[in-house]
Amino acid sequence: MDENYNEVDMDQTEEQGEAVDLTEDGDDVWEPDGEEICYLCRRPESTAGKMFHLPNHITICTDCMRRTMETISRFESGLGPEEPDAEETGSDEQQSDEQDGGKRSFPRLHFVNLADLAGMGGMMPQQKVKKHKEGEKPKPIIDIHNIPAPHKIKEKLDDYIIGQEHAKKVISVAVYNHYKRVATDTMDEIEIEKSNMLMIGPTGCGKTYLVKTLARLLDVPLAITDATSLTEAGYIGDDIESVVSKLLAAAGNDVDKAEQGIIFIDEIDKIAKKSNANTRDVSGESVQQGMLKLLEGADIEVPVGASSKNAMVPMTTVNTRNILFICGGAFPDLEEIIKQRLHKQTGIGYNAELKDSVDKEKNILSKVTIEDLRKFGMIPEFLGRLPILYTLEGLTEEMLVRILKEPKNAILKQYQKLLLLDEVCLEFTDEALEAIAHKAIEKKIGARALRAIIEDFMLDIMYETPKDDNIGRVTITKEYIEGTGGPLIEIRQGGLPLKECRGE
Ligand code: ADP
Repeated sequence: MDENYNEVDMDQTEEQGEAVDLTEDGDDVWEPDGEEICYLCRRPESTAGKMFHLPNHITICTDCMRRTMETISRFESGLGPEEPDAEETGSDEQQSDEQDGGKRSFPRLHFVNLADLAGMGGMMPQQKVKKHKEGEKPKPIIDIHNIPAPHKIKEKLDDYIIGQEHAKKVISVAVYNHYKRVATDTMDEIEIEKSNMLMIGPTGCGKTYLVKTLARLLDVPLAITDATSLTEAGYIGDDIESVVSKLLAAAGNDVDKAEQGIIFIDEIDKIAKKSNANTRDVSGESVQQGMLKLLEGADIEVPVGASSKNAMVPMTTVNTRNILFICGGAFPDLEEIIKQRLHKQTGIGYNAELKDSVDKEKNILSKVTIEDLRKFGMIPEFLGRLPILYTLEGLTEEMLVRILKEPKNAILKQYQKLLLLDEVCLEFTDEALEAIAHKAIEKKIGARALRAIIEDFMLDIMYETPKDDNIGRVTITKEYIEGTGGPLIEIRQGGLPLKECRGE
């Protein structure tokens, strides 16, 4: 959290009495002849980059603008604030969150209330700031103590994740079984196996996003770790048990909560057995070996409020029996291994047609078997502890267009919302969306490319639009995306087109 943020109570919009002092020495931040300074983080234009101009000479840098927009969209989508990735979470922050009584009110982002500026010589009409109602902690969308049927869980996931029908179905059933087992504590004669999962899919197809969304819907703590950073205990790197302390931190040091959480280990393919294993393989096979105990369920001693064990830190025991482990990876060379196996199955020389169809098969990854993964370098004991294996498809152009506009917190909705605050409608033609998707496919990093592309051309729109109060609607065209034309600008007339956009 940047300490320079001005902290203002969001519920004080009506109070006009006090003017906010914009700088420590009382100077106005607007410096028409000098350098512009971001009103929120106070960095000058030379450091913070391009500034957005809001009414009444308020300038905001791109970073602060983006952060504001992301937070607004989180609350709009009903997801609440983003649970911090465990990596980013210091224990202090966790504790202060607890002290807040767990209120879901913009915990790490403090806004300047623009309406308070009305007190500055009355130069500014009151700006409406959407109030966030304070109350009790919002209920989780899916209650793990009374877990709904798998199709209901999938329905919720559908609101956020486009496509990946098979993956959503598998994960819904697995989560349903897992939490049913946890809630009823059925560990008598018939022991229900843990639903740990291994998901395989190309980069940027939504693996992490699926897990993050799930954890948020269930309101369980989530720790995300990169398998590449893990090494056998005693070597440089994080030792394997550190994933449990991350989860404990994400659960606000509440052991009971952590024991029902989810641990997502990404890039799991990077800990495959190295083929030329002349040296000790401390980050590959040994990590797989080290994880066996964790995956199965064991009492792990973890430091409280710190990421490493030392004499100064109190220790606690976390049992991993009810922790859901999800491993994910892109397994880049796996396709070749699958193809080789399928080729062998089609026989030598006789079945040329079948061989051809194997080569042309688009979703070859979905044919993966445990045997293929063993060949890839995963040890059988490790695979045995991840009984649920499924794949995610690579995203097509059509899916990317849907990702742009359909999810509850879709990128387009975020920008539209932000511009609507400036009373400007933002629209995209269908061809423009296709052009964006087309560009994204070329980058070969899945949906991750979308944001980068959009941010690139939206920067100018976000920079120029607030300059002119007459602009009513901006329509992004294919030509604009491709750099051969500009956006369509419509002038405001008698409340139009704003009323249209707001659906009035
Ligand atoms: P990876 O598969 O590499 O873990 P991510 O889950 O991190 O990829 O995806 C990157 C971003 O792309 C996500 O934050 C999300 O916004 C978007 N995204 C990817 N796949 C989908 C999808 N199927 N539906 C909606 N958004 C998606």
